Amino acid sequence: MLHHRHALATRTPAARTARRARTVLTLAAAAAALAGLAACQSSSPPPTTTSVAPAKAPADRPDRGARDGEAAGHVPDGTTVFDDDLPALANLDPALLTALQAAATDAEQDGVTFFVNSAWRSAEYQDQLLREAVAQYGSAAEAARWVASADTSSHVTGDAVDLQQTGGSQWVADHGAAYGLCRVYANEPWHVELRQDAADGGCPEPYADPSQDPRLQQ
Ligand SMILES: [Zn+2]
Repeated sequence: MLHHRHALATRTPAARTARRARTVLTLAAAAAALAGLAACQSSSPPPTTTSVAPAKAPADRPDRGARDGEAAGHVPDGTTVFDDDLPALANLDPALLTALQAAATDAEQDGVTFFVNSAWRSAEYQDQLLREAVAQYGSAAEAARWVASADTSSHVTGDAVDLQQTGGSQWVADHGAAYGLCRVYANEPWHVELRQDAADGGCPEPYADPSQDPRLQQ
């Protein structure tokens, strides 16, 4: 009996702690996901830094699961450029996908795997990211500094992939030009697009940030 009560007394706080840990993890994952996607889709530079979105905790962000479903372009953890049965990869420009897979095959020789954080996204998914950014940043104007619209995002057209920085992004910086793979924005080293001419002349000089990219001017 005493033993039983003791067990209950210790189990309850433990369960509470576990639940709290899960909540924190979920929020952290959601924040990380939004920060990565948002920074990559920004149409203006960050106000003070040129690297990534500030680690602003979106406390008021609804827990919508942070995922819009694979059909809309969601990429599960551990996805590589060879997982081309996923819509996120299947809907990329075929030339971009082919170049990525060729590069990734060679990168494996260096022990590097191309892990994908994001690739093609549906217009609805992109719009959802924009709406969430409006809720997070408080105004459409501020959100526009971080998240592109579905009309301008190169992810929506299937022309961009975001690689993990330790899983392909650096390798592309070092060797990507030979495959026509280029980093486009100095402040988004993970964002890779196809530049067919790069095999001959090297990658063009990256834009400092997406606000310098004429394609994103509306
Ligand atoms: Zn991107």
